[in-house]
Amino acid sequence: MLYNSTQNKGAVVSSATAIAQGISKDGGLFVPQSFPKLSLNTLKNMLFMTYQERAKIVFSYYLTDFSEDEIADCVDKAYTKKKFDFEEPTVLSSVNYHGNELNILELWHGPTSAFKDMALQILPHLLTKSMKKTNDGKTAVILVATSGDTGKAALEGFKDVKDTKIIVFYPQNGVSPMQKHQMTTQEGNNVYVCAINGNFDDAQTAVKTIFTDPKMNEILADNNMMFSSANSINFGRLLPQVVYYISAYCDMVNKGKINLGDKINVVVPTGNFGNILAGYYAYEMGLPVNKFICASNSNNVLTDFINTGVYDKNRQFYTTISPSMDILVSSNLERLLYKLSGDNDTLTKEWMTKLKTDGKYEVTDEVKEKMSSLFYGSFCDDTKTKSTISELFNRCSYLCDTHTSVAVTVYNEYVAKTGDKTPCVIDSTASPYKFAKSVLEAISKDDIPSDEFDMVSKLNSVTKVSVPKPLASLKGKVPRFKDVTEKEDMQDVVLSALGIK
Ligand SMILES: *Cc1c(COP(=O)(O)O)cnc(C)c1O
Repeated sequence: MLYNSTQNKGAVVSSATAIAQGISKDGGLFVPQSFPKLSLNTLKNMLFMTYQERAKIVFSYYLTDFSEDEIADCVDKAYTKKKFDFEEPTVLSSVNYHGNELNILELWHGPTSAFKDMALQILPHLLTKSMKKTNDGKTAVILVATSGDTGKAALEGFKDVKDTKIIVFYPQNGVSPMQKHQMTTQEGNNVYVCAINGNFDDAQTAVKTIFTDPKMNEILADNNMMFSSANSINFGRLLPQVVYYISAYCDMVNKGKINLGDKINVVVPTGNFGNILAGYYAYEMGLPVNKFICASNSNNVLTDFINTGVYDKNRQFYTTISPSMDILVSSNLERLLYKLSGDNDTLTKEWMTKLKTDGKYEVTDEVKEKMSSLFYGSFCDDTKTKSTISELFNRCSYLCDTHTSVAVTVYNEYVAKTGDKTPCVIDSTASPYKFAKSVLEAISKDDIPSDEFDMVSKLNSVTKVSVPKPLASLKGKVPRFKDVTEKEDMQDVVLSALGIK
């Protein structure tokens, strides 16, 4: 299996290079040249396997330059009971809501209580092995731009991992108090965290620029370092996410919700388009999917894109109660467009260049049609997000976070509008305790305490839903990182964090 860049088919690399490098030098993203096919027979065999065993099979299709032992080592170190709540890292819960069965795939039972752990617990293992194969002896510098959850999950994954350093930038006013506290109290000798005056897109754009800046790359090389990425532009982030779609499908069969071969609908609360793209990759491998339902908050650029074929980021940016989806430039869409355009690197490059220069592009009719036959896009605002949290809790005793609620809201409207009752899997991306304030506001009329941890206690006493241990243990921890930077100064911040300047 080889990989090429979405913006230059001539760039052909191994999986180890794709993972170690993170992003192609031409600014494109690495994609597999073809998709391995999952036969129904393979799926059938997977029914009787654990999550970890299913993961090893999926990984072996894509990481053909890794040995079986190397893959097993990565999987076994990542998905353990020590790091996740249960033997199996994911949980599929079913509730009946307004006559619709919601099969909610809880992806947040890892050490930081967000679905990013599913990928970021394993990425450091994939990366250090990839570095050994391609750049032995160099230190990998992980630069992260985060809308909240990636930052903490990456810090937790990479802390004290040999031959790596990690630097995280987050928007000063764009993350929840719990997310901020999680990051600023991070332990480890190879970590650095800094706020920026700006929003997530500012952070992401600046990080992408630093990555591809020849001067910066030269300085790092002189110091025996190289940049890599833990953002979902790294293929090593996407691959672990492909696994849980396949695994959830098996669990749906095992629970008698569907028969092997039946199609499912997949509902994803979407920001950077990484999670839903991983589902699409599973579909390309043969997973029976009818529709991907792409749910957004008021930052509804993807809804408009799916409906019109015009991507236009020139619009108001909203700070919402689902901050991990407050994104106007969804990086991983580039990978979908590449595939839907028939692996057309020229067109993809043209669109991405237009996005940079005009903030806007329009895809071809063919791509538009392919997209709208498989994807449905819609959005909801904060008021609806809160009312769904409250209704779901009051009717079904199921407590969900603000991001999952966006998905549930959009799904219900989809079923009402289309009558499509195909069994669904809805991704649940965070523990409700990560967004305790908004969740409390949704379900309780009492005054909300001002301290984040008092909110957590209050939510616990109102709902009796247990608090994830890693969140509870943050209480009283003193922040280590208090720096704030202008986005123009991020390069200098990176160099001084690396001790180069
Ligand atoms: C990151 C994140 C999302 C968005 O996922 P993408 O892969 O960026 O589309 C949704 N919800 C939560 C809680 C997240 O942390």
